[in-house]
Amino acid sequence: MKRLIYLDNAATTRLDPEVFLKMQPCFTEFYGNPSSIYQFAQKSAGVVEEAREELASAIGAKPQEIYFTGGGSEADNWAIKAVAEAYKEKGRHLITSKIEHHAVLHTFEYLQRQGYDVTYLDVNEDGIVDLEQLRASVRPDTILISIMAANNEIGTIQPIAKIGEIAREAGVLFHTDAVQAFGHIPLDVEEMKIDLLSASAHKIHGPKGAGFLYARKSVKLSSLIHGGAQERGKRAGTHNVPGIAGFAAASKRAREKMFETMEKETRLRDYLISRVEEEIPFTIVNGHRTSRLPNNAHFCFRFIEGESMLILLDEAGICASSGSACTSGSLDPSHVLLAIGRPHEIAHGSLRLTLSEQTTKEELDFVVEELKKTIERLRNMSPLYEDFLKKGAKEDASCIAKK
Ligand SMILES: *Cc1c(COP(=O)(O)O)cnc(C)c1O
Repeated sequence: MKRLIYLDNAATTRLDPEVFLKMQPCFTEFYGNPSSIYQFAQKSAGVVEEAREELASAIGAKPQEIYFTGGGSEADNWAIKAVAEAYKEKGRHLITSKIEHHAVLHTFEYLQRQGYDVTYLDVNEDGIVDLEQLRASVRPDTILISIMAANNEIGTIQPIAKIGEIAREAGVLFHTDAVQAFGHIPLDVEEMKIDLLSASAHKIHGPKGAGFLYARKSVKLSSLIHGGAQERGKRAGTHNVPGIAGFAAASKRAREKMFETMEKETRLRDYLISRVEEEIPFTIVNGHRTSRLPNNAHFCFRFIEGESMLILLDEAGICASSGSACTSGSLDPSHVLLAIGRPHEIAHGSLRLTLSEQTTKEELDFVVEELKKTIERLRNMSPLYEDFLKKGAKEDASCIAKK
């Protein structure tokens, strides 16, 4: 079989074999419904409650503040819609940023159609939200601030504790989409004054379709999924016991070696970024240099059409992404790259490479060599690049021009 190099760990991760072993008996041995009364089912209920304890302690929360969901998108939808619903008597103004995941942005757009007023905060060139603008945006009718912990495209980590402080001082609830951060970097809902937090298992070598919403005890949380009495009557549906067990096992594993993984990935990430920057001309590195997910490298290559680059890399056995969640075939460049000030033509030539703890330096060396060949080949076919060379091939400021 052809060699495969998987560098799309922000999209999803490989299920860890140890995690899989923890899930297996939940399918074939303790298959009881945790809501049933007999002792056999209590085994399944025990798995769910043990998992709740592990996940709560991973973020400094209490087990009763963890609600299992079908993933990160559901947790985002639930947090935002539930606060909008439960606090509408207080006000109908919500604050978020321009670089959120679509699970957050599209939920806010939905609320706008329901008559809510939403402020979308700008970010600077590194992708960090403007804290002064945040402070100035809070109004007496503001009920929620939702800012992601770390960005899924460019990897920038937000000053979450500072945002939490601003929210707390203003008496406004603070939700964070921590799907890219959970299990990757330390998070603490007390220290960071987080009231609601979304997380997902499949971004940390756990199973797909399992997530949780943390909601501080004092938050009024209305239901998104109506039905049975699971999750203290707030989220109906028979528990996904294998998924929940797998999520907890993945979290435990991630926590045990978080600092080791962070250190290793950061070293490899910086090696990759510096090689690409030094060896491929007309490259722009996106995202903050240091306040950045340890496993994220993100570039724009001038005179490159991103999709062609991904297809050629795929032929070389490299799984990578443009970093934008836009459906292939769409001509809209990433909303994140536009928000950090990249012009359309540059945003189109983007590449996201996201590492795992399994990634090796040797793999990255292979990727850099393939990338150099690919980019040279595509640029040689580009009339724009030819023009640019004729004009003296000077680096200009246009690649970082603000909107
Ligand atoms: C992957 C992701 C989501 C969605 O999580 P799912 O479990 O796939 O629904 C939400 N937010 C961010 C930042 C993500 O990276």
